[in-house]
Amino acid sequence: MRRLALSASAALAILAAPALASAAPAATQADLEKRFDAQIDPAEMDGWMKAMASAPNHVGSPHDKANAEYMQAKFQSWGWDARIETFEVLYPTPLSETLEIVGADPFKATLQEPPIPGDTTEHAMAGALPAWVAFAGDGDVTAELVYVNYGMPDDYKALERLGIDVKGKIVIARYGNGWRGLKPKLAQEHGAVGCIIYSDPKDDGYWQDDVYPNGPERPAHSFQRGSVADMTTYPGDPLTPGVGATRDASRLAIADAKTILKIPTLPISYADAQVFLSRLSGPVAPASFRGALPITYHVGPGAEVHLATKADWSLKTLYDVVAVMKGSTYPDQWVLRGNHHDGWVFGADDPLSGNVAMMAEAKAIGALARTGWRPKRTLVYLGWDGEEPMLLGSTEYAETHEAELKTKALIYINTDDIGRGYFNAQASHDFQRLINGVTADVTDPETQVSVGQRLRAKLMVDAAAPGATAHDLAMGKIAAGPADLPVGPLGSGSDYSAFLQHLGIPAINLGYGGEVASGGTYHSAYDTYEYYSRFVDPGLAYSAALARTGGRLVLRMSQSDLPQQRFSDFAETVGGYLDEIGKLADAKREAAQTQARLLKAGAYGLASDPRRPLLAPSAEASVPPIDLAPLAKAVDRLKQSAKTYDAAVLASGAGLSADKQAKLQAMTRDIDQLLLADVGLPFRPWYRNMIYAPGRFTGYGAKTLPGVREAVEEGRWDDAARYAVITAKVLDAYSDRLDQATALIHGA
Ligand SMILES: [Zn+2]
Repeated sequence: MRRLALSASAALAILAAPALASAAPAATQADLEKRFDAQIDPAEMDGWMKAMASAPNHVGSPHDKANAEYMQAKFQSWGWDARIETFEVLYPTPLSETLEIVGADPFKATLQEPPIPGDTTEHAMAGALPAWVAFAGDGDVTAELVYVNYGMPDDYKALERLGIDVKGKIVIARYGNGWRGLKPKLAQEHGAVGCIIYSDPKDDGYWQDDVYPNGPERPAHSFQRGSVADMTTYPGDPLTPGVGATRDASRLAIADAKTILKIPTLPISYADAQVFLSRLSGPVAPASFRGALPITYHVGPGAEVHLATKADWSLKTLYDVVAVMKGSTYPDQWVLRGNHHDGWVFGADDPLSGNVAMMAEAKAIGALARTGWRPKRTLVYLGWDGEEPMLLGSTEYAETHEAELKTKALIYINTDDIGRGYFNAQASHDFQRLINGVTADVTDPETQVSVGQRLRAKLMVDAAAPGATAHDLAMGKIAAGPADLPVGPLGSGSDYSAFLQHLGIPAINLGYGGEVASGGTYHSAYDTYEYYSRFVDPGLAYSAALARTGGRLVLRMSQSDLPQQRFSDFAETVGGYLDEIGKLADAKREAAQTQARLLKAGAYGLASDPRRPLLAPSAEASVPPIDLAPLAKAVDRLKQSAKTYDAAVLASGAGLSADKQAKLQAMTRDIDQLLLADVGLPFRPWYRNMIYAPGRFTGYGAKTLPGVREAVEEGRWDDAARYAVITAKVLDAYSDRLDQATALIHGA
């Protein structure tokens, strides 16, 4: 493997390989990127952020539409062919909401975020959404309250051992440790009638740092809005799965839309949550349930709570900005680059910190075009609307243009909210080398070394710290060596999902962050321009670095005559995933055997404290042998095919004729689409990628080889065997294509 590792200069040598006929002046890639960098102006980006974050900009708000028009006008003034594409999507907005404790000592939750002096909230809150999560059910319920910690599957197991059932109850869960929407979904599956989600100060409040306006963390009356649509089934408009939500699209009835939850749900602040939690009796919460509020946490039940929400379930219009610069040499090969422009309130960090970087790239590329340069491939810059409610704008665009995108797109490059600090990326792993090459060439604003070098330093320091995890140690070891840094897999949580997981178009998501503890104003009204410029990225130095990073990826994809993938990285990574699944199955088998022994011996009863009794857990199903052999065989073949291709292209790629280079590009352009299986994943056929998916029980977090891995995790043994075969088949098709490409290089 290592012998194929390219140095940065070798990568540039490939990029500067003999070019096909082009109207562009003979500039080297490095030169082009230098001229691109010179156009990035953080002060100007700061102005765009300030303007776009000056009023609430959620879907359906006047400023959301105005921002789309603002971007369109900017793109046009920079020489792009820019239009606004609209969709009509279901998007509920709150009509009324109530959350209160009833009975002898009543209490009403605030459900509003008060203004902070000197902050945008002081003067621009008109039209802002109150405490709200989109796509929960309407309802009016009164019931006792139970505290369910993060509301994840293990939390319900812990409650079961305490003898606590949530059937007919309202649950209160804290944010974190799993995606927001899973909390009400799992609550309703356990029979709860309502759900409250609060932000505990341990996770993003005073436990982490000073709170806004004195520091970056969440103040006492702030809450996190968000969507709870069941994106793990499918993202996008709940009424039009698989097709674009155009005006005339046929739509499901709201009652038939699987991704809308049933029970009413509201987010609250920790100032309010403290009152609710302090009224609970019942057992003291297990240690893992305890947050940082100055109370003893009990799980309940207790306190009679009234929760009522009612929404306007009409269709709303989305405004996607689509800006195109036609390629001179390969106009029918598209490089896609997107960021969303809608927020929950003002959205300075989420999404505008990434959005202004994307805009800066477009402006810089427009300036290059003014000098007579043209991109070889067509560039498509996309300003998405409706990301926050559930990736609406990107999903509907991808579904509407599926056929054309599958024929033309090379890659989709995404950004979203960023922070100050270290580079991070999740991506289709065949592009890991490309990403590493770029990070070697972008300068970190705080240290002036490359962002790649800084990340390596951080990883090595973390690995040397006391208490470093096995993962930290492994990463530190890689960072200390000459090999590329691994990129993570893509789950969900931003606009790449439809491209990667529904269409099979490879994707990269990149960002910076890690120097603000937790993003304590996330999805709150306090995610303002003032907050962002004081605490997250003063002077937008990292948004500028993001533009230099995203712009380089776009330009290298656009200009290279040879494919930018290195397939061994993908093959080795998939091999690692398969090893993990094998170990997971073994660990589950052993745990089930141990538990069965303990149950049989009555050990749980003997170990239980009679004053704080714990019931024995429900028996785990025993784990049969799982036949992963077909998949193991396909992975071995993939490793061999990838290694052979990579060696061939390294040795002979640059010397190929222009015609052969173009053929090679055509063979590898859509290779990642071979990773789709039409049958899709169990319970969720919209997700067709057999390598990457958001986890059914993690949400944003990725599950790799998901058909097999989740079957093992959830004890669906037949599915595990079936998807080992399905996944092997897509990998074999991938290897076939690589072998054909290798044959082309060798002159066959
Ligand atoms: Zn976002």
